[in-house]
Amino acid sequence: MKRFLVALLIVLVIAVPGLAAGKSPGVVGAYMNYSRGYSDTPEELTAFVNEAADAGVQFLLPYARTTEGTAYYDSKIMPHTKKPFDAFKVVIEAAHKRGMQVHPWFVVNADGFSEFSPITAAHPDWCMMDKNGKRIAWLDPSCPEARQYIVSIVKEIAANYDIDGLSLDYLRYAETKTCYCDRCKTAFKAEFGIDAIEADNIKNGSWNWAKWRLWRYRQTNQLAREIRAALKEVKPDADMSAYVWGAQSYGTGWGICQDWKTWVKEGLLDWVNPMGYYSIRSEYITAAKWNREMAGTELPMLVTMAVRSRGDKAAAVARTTQQIRDAVDCGADGVVFFTLEDARPLLKDLSPVLHDLANGKLKKAQ
Ligand SMILES: [Zn+2]
Repeated sequence: MKRFLVALLIVLVIAVPGLAAGKSPGVVGAYMNYSRGYSDTPEELTAFVNEAADAGVQFLLPYARTTEGTAYYDSKIMPHTKKPFDAFKVVIEAAHKRGMQVHPWFVVNADGFSEFSPITAAHPDWCMMDKNGKRIAWLDPSCPEARQYIVSIVKEIAANYDIDGLSLDYLRYAETKTCYCDRCKTAFKAEFGIDAIEADNIKNGSWNWAKWRLWRYRQTNQLAREIRAALKEVKPDADMSAYVWGAQSYGTGWGICQDWKTWVKEGLLDWVNPMGYYSIRSEYITAAKWNREMAGTELPMLVTMAVRSRGDKAAAVARTTQQIRDAVDCGADGVVFFTLEDARPLLKDLSPVLHDLANGKLKKAQ
């Protein structure tokens, strides 16, 4: 009997994460990159947050860890960006005063991107390697020390800032085919008996090609689990969410191995904001529908929209409004602007539709 109870307890504990999904941050969110002279002083940045709140933006995703591997906050771990004040802290304080949630925009694997950061330069063995044996400035998820580094940053932010969640970005392999370092090649060959480069050279969609993809899914999934566990340890109530390529993540042409459906299935995410960067309306709608289906019905799914405000303003407002309505029609729970800075010239004009969305007045078309 005792053994049975222990077994039952284990089953219950294992089952819990699958039930955790589904916390809404709000229905209108926006990334913030502090660019374009809108955030040169704390006062300017605070005024910008207030402007967003007035327009109906409900939650913010301010840049915390960048693709360059730098921090927009007072980090003891990462090199700092060139901001004379803690921009991240200013956004949190201003946003919370207005009842807006804050989910730091956290770049996971890219660390230096086009050139090596001090961290990736100092630890080449932490980095992904391309087919030609060249290291690139991306942290390799198969490297325990690299994962540990990422997790330490998650803990630093969660321990020192009043965040409502963590918004992951770039949790994936690079667009260029990776990773062919000795660690990855050896581990893959030991398990599947195939050389990784050979597996990659064969036809897309073939069995060996799928094995190589599966093995890399496992690496990024393991990292997703470790980030979730770290967040839970330091700030148990904080959400975890992710920007993902959506249906495109699973396209045979890409090797980014961002297996986000598994993150959803395992209850690692509380909400998800897949890519909606399409200027052709039919493509935007198709992607939103696919992503709604792939995210399932339990999890809030918000479409990430590229807001373009250059050129004719009335046309930009009309285009953005149309995309918001289309997202709702496709079953999305809301939208996330990329970025608030890009949307700023349109905020006043978009305010009515954003308030309608927030008040549930934008109904799904029948
Ligand atoms: Zn590797």
